[in-house]
Amino acid sequence: MENTVNTIWERLDASYPERISFITEPDPWRFLVTVMLSASTTDAQAVKAASALFALYPDPESVAGAGDEEIGRLIRSAGLWKTKAPRIREVSAYIAEHGLPSSAEELMKLPGIGEKTAACYTEHVFGGNAVIADTHFVRVARRLGFTDTSDRAKAAREIRERFPEDSWSRMSMVLNMHGRTVCRPRPLCASCPVRALCPSSADAV
Ligand code: SF4
Repeated sequence: MENTVNTIWERLDASYPERISFITEPDPWRFLVTVMLSASTTDAQAVKAASALFALYPDPESVAGAGDEEIGRLIRSAGLWKTKAPRIREVSAYIAEHGLPSSAEELMKLPGIGEKTAACYTEHVFGGNAVIADTHFVRVARRLGFTDTSDRAKAAREIRERFPEDSWSRMSMVLNMHGRTVCRPRPLCASCPVRALCPSSADAV
């Protein structure tokens, strides 16, 4: 069983480009805001909304001093602006006062920052390895037999226990990409590179 899981992972890994990066923003605060904007929308929409925001409010201090309505107007294309605007303002105010969070734990004390956002930040800013268990990741991991839970935190824990640390970030990117493009909610098994091994493939059910 473990051998099959490892073979599936090796084959899937090999079928995706070496570099997969959805949000490439180098500045840590801007990266964090863009990831917050990406909740429940595409990365492309998040980047577009972030660009509109940064054009007028280029740093944490200026966003901290802006009104929620104004922030919301600029980020509206990313959706859920009534929730996202105050969270982005509060996180920016914290960073303006205290500097960038130095750990995932510190970050997760801020409003609207969950495990997934903290993992993205840790991986991007500190170069650490993190399991980023978003919806796509968990769906694909379950179908492949990497985990048997749909609970994101539990799935992330199981993956961390099951696979070596140096594979966590890469696996997060590959499973996310696979979930967006092939193993969608309605999976395109006929186009899948691990179809022959997947326990959930259209052939297996
Ligand atoms: S074979 Fe189908 S269910 Fe399995 S990973 Fe590929 S697309 Fe998903």
